[in-house]
Amino acid sequence: MVERDTQGILKNYFGFTRFRRGQEEIINALLSGRDVLAVMPTGAGKSLCYQAPALMLEGLTVVISPLISLMKDQVNALSDAEIPGAYLNSSLSFAEYRTTIARAGKGEYKILYIAPERLKRDDIRCLGDSLGITMVVIDEAHCISQWGHDFRPSYLLITEFIQSLPKRPITAAFTATATGKVQDDIIRILNLETPYLLTTGFNRENLYFEVRRPQNKLQALLEYLRNHRDKSGIIYCSTRKAVEELCQILNSQGYGTTRYHAGLEDQERQENQDHFIYDRKPLMVATNAFGMGIDKSNVSFVIHYNMPKNIESYYQEAGRAGRDGSPADCILFYSPKDVRINTYLITNPQNDEAPRNEALIRHNLELLKAMTYYAATGDCLRSQLLAYFGEAGLHYCGNCSNCNTLFESADITVAAQKIVSCVYRVEQRGKRFGKIMVIDILRGGKNRKLLDSGLNTLSTYGIMADTDPHRLRIIIDYLVDKGYLALEGDEYPVLCPGPRSKEIVFEKKNLSMMLPKETEQHRQPLMAADSEKTGNPFDEELFIKLKEMRNRLAQEARLPAYIIFSDASIRDMCRKKPETLEQFHGVSGVGLVKMEKYGKLFINVIKEHEKG
Ligand code: ADP
Ligand code: MG
Repeated sequence: MVERDTQGILKNYFGFTRFRRGQEEIINALLSGRDVLAVMPTGAGKSLCYQAPALMLEGLTVVISPLISLMKDQVNALSDAEIPGAYLNSSLSFAEYRTTIARAGKGEYKILYIAPERLKRDDIRCLGDSLGITMVVIDEAHCISQWGHDFRPSYLLITEFIQSLPKRPITAAFTATATGKVQDDIIRILNLETPYLLTTGFNRENLYFEVRRPQNKLQALLEYLRNHRDKSGIIYCSTRKAVEELCQILNSQGYGTTRYHAGLEDQERQENQDHFIYDRKPLMVATNAFGMGIDKSNVSFVIHYNMPKNIESYYQEAGRAGRDGSPADCILFYSPKDVRINTYLITNPQNDEAPRNEALIRHNLELLKAMTYYAATGDCLRSQLLAYFGEAGLHYCGNCSNCNTLFESADITVAAQKIVSCVYRVEQRGKRFGKIMVIDILRGGKNRKLLDSGLNTLSTYGIMADTDPHRLRIIIDYLVDKGYLALEGDEYPVLCPGPRSKEIVFEKKNLSMMLPKETEQHRQPLMAADSEKTGNPFDEELFIKLKEMRNRLAQEARLPAYIIFSDASIRDMCRKKPETLEQFHGVSGVGLVKMEKYGKLFINVIKEHEKG
């Protein structure tokens, strides 16, 4: 029977009460048989978007994922919620492989993970006939595009695989980072048919972004770690050598640290990754070979010891922090040397097989330029990242190192009056211009078009000659955002008075906003801000006790701790302090299966704790 109650599935299998942004729309699109392309940030909950419909649809869902090492965890997590799944990748013996295929053929699974390389094998091709594949999901779909930051040739096998199936399956592509160009590639190469396209936005509010330019990176790192003992984090370095050295130093300083890079044997890589995921070693030092798709929910910081080559990589890697929604730090240690090394690596590609591709090299140098700009900018870091992915608007987030140290509240009452009346005056002359021209008028610019149009005779010409044009632009954007000004037209938007412009011109309304300043100041620690918000002191002791219980269960079941319950779920238990199974079911991340399996144990811990 095909189940259609998405809400029931959400609570009973996954333990959540509310869909996150975009999830329900995607699930409904897939259930109605439509293709999907979803671009949702890391941690947004993409897996659920295909796992839920996989459960509800007749037949088998195949998930193509490049992350061999994580398939086992995914399948474990599914079976913990009693969803039958399996995987096919190079870690299986031939016998296991055959058994899995035979069981899949009998319809024993709802979800089958397959590594893209496996699609080459003829038996998988033949399999298609017997399996009754209803849906094919492509996770990390950006790997299919050479304009993406992690192109994998084996991804090109997917298209042929889909075409070889007797009946065209519903096809769904998911990725966290894809520029417009990469999205186009995904749709084209996979032949998605008028897909339901969803980009939920890239913003991850719980992440704090910071750029540091330490004289001595090692000292800066050690200082950070001293202040964040017992937290789990990833430190990315650009070379294997740096990974080796840093890992050794951190271990010698008493930090449980493991390492990951492409120069290690498969087995060691797997072991090290497990040490990290199972919290046996809370710190991971790695090259960019590590981490795609890692769903370790309690990573509380990602430090880039070296600057990556582009913003896509940076955002993807940094985004591995704070997946459970808790506050987390993303810190980039910048030095100009990083730019030189990256330039060298881009212009001297190591790949001997592929012919040198000058267009690609130029493209990659452009991407590096954007990354370098991020490291140098005095603007809001979050807004820089979001603008890169095409999300404009925000200029101050209040949760990045630039906003916290370089911005202050500024009175813009007079500035707003000057700007809005300038836009009025221009309109009185029967004209409308874009932001650049309005800024030019206000600053008394002398460009040809301005002078030819006689705009230098306006009373507002040059009345803000002292204001930095960039600052002016930020103020104008703010006025547009608040409705004092408006933008009209799509291709060349022009400024005109907004619905609230009268409040400025006639009512002389007082306005202030956050603007860049000169002096430095230190940011507030995030945790303090968190408890200020809720007003409740957090019961740290109970949190630790519940975590102990979880870790014990995880050890017994030989599962990573977060598969039993994420830190976010445990935190929610601390807040709700459930006394009955029913109340326990109300905790975020607790489904029916988990309620029955673990409910009593955790309720007892809470009871004992409350008795004191
Ligand atoms: P990604 O989009 O990066 O693939 P995942 O699918 O791994 O993200 O999900 C990230 C985390 O969010 C997981 O721990 C998952 O259990 C949790 N999650 C997913 N959907 C919801 C929801 N509706 N409510 C609460 N947590 C959710
Ligand atoms: Mg994922």
